[in-house]
Amino acid sequence: MNQLEPGCTKVRELCSDYVDGELDIQASRHVASHLGECGPCQALIATLKATIALLRIPQHHRAPDSLRARVKQNIKGIKA
Ligand SMILES: [Zn+2]
Repeated sequence: MNQLEPGCTKVRELCSDYVDGELDIQASRHVASHLGECGPCQALIATLKATIALLRIPQHHRAPDSLRARVKQNIKGIKA
């Protein structure tokens, strides 16, 4: 099947924190530079951002933290 490159595995571990802006500068740069050369990871981040944006729409009923955590966990499990 689709074997992830080592760089991708690392980015997937970091991606939800990256989207949340919780990474330090160094890790954040690492993710950004990987995204510049990896289409599947770019797509993953785009999906993640869209999902989180949905969760953050203010007029929606706010998703409970447990749901947010589960969504993040699911996204981490996505394989390109
Ligand atoms: Zn990648």
